[in-house]
Amino acid sequence: MKIILLGTTGYHPNDRRHTPCMVLPECGVLLDAGTAMYRVGRYLQTPEIDVFLTHAHVDHVIGLTYLFDVARDHRLNHVRVHALPEYLAAVDRHLFASALFPKKPPFESRVLHGPVALAGDGDLSYFPLDHQGGSVGFRLDWPDRSMAYVTDTTAAADAPYVEKIAGVDLLLHECYYGDDEADWAKQTGHSSTTPVAQVARQAGVGRLVLVHINPRRLEDDPIGLNVARAIFPKTEIGEDLMELEF
Ligand SMILES: [Zn+2]
Ligand SMILES: [Zn+2]
Repeated sequence: MKIILLGTTGYHPNDRRHTPCMVLPECGVLLDAGTAMYRVGRYLQTPEIDVFLTHAHVDHVIGLTYLFDVARDHRLNHVRVHALPEYLAAVDRHLFASALFPKKPPFESRVLHGPVALAGDGDLSYFPLDHQGGSVGFRLDWPDRSMAYVTDTTAAADAPYVEKIAGVDLLLHECYYGDDEADWAKQTGHSSTTPVAQVARQAGVGRLVLVHINPRRLEDDPIGLNVARAIFPKTEIGEDLMELEF
């Protein structure tokens, strides 16, 4: 199974990264709908797609407004957007308020209430995270592989979500800050390097790829990769358009 990281920053895009949108072309799944959504068309393989939103903060939903072009250029028959009811309501009420964006693209809103079946005998489950306004993480399982996407949360090895991601082959986890800004991470409901690596070690995942990197940081190593690898060696920094097999 392949996942492509279309956007690996949070808050706003910069010259290196767009805001979150991850695509699994073989099963038509998108995780989040940030500014990277405009890139998804070149990867689509299915006539229908399912978009799962972690929460309704604008860096994760703004790309829903781009669905007109995505649907038209790639002849999508159907788009389903899955999220908790309060996030779907916020998108309807605010993102598609007539003064902001007067016409809603054609998609069906689906309330998350339990596992969702995925193509290839898989399923997606979700669990709550610690973030201002809330957020959910996703775990995707197939009979022979698994991954989890955890963003917009404070990280801690003893956090309740850690058991939900136990043993996944691939963990995409946010790491907005390096350890030098750990206090900012706590204040803003985000993560810093050491706790993220500790989460990966505690959960016994196969591989950790860091996403939702602070857009103010444009360098190759914005978070202190050696610090993470000292705790969890199989750590990489995600980059836009990175393709991962799991
Ligand atoms: Zn975010
Ligand atoms: Zn957020």
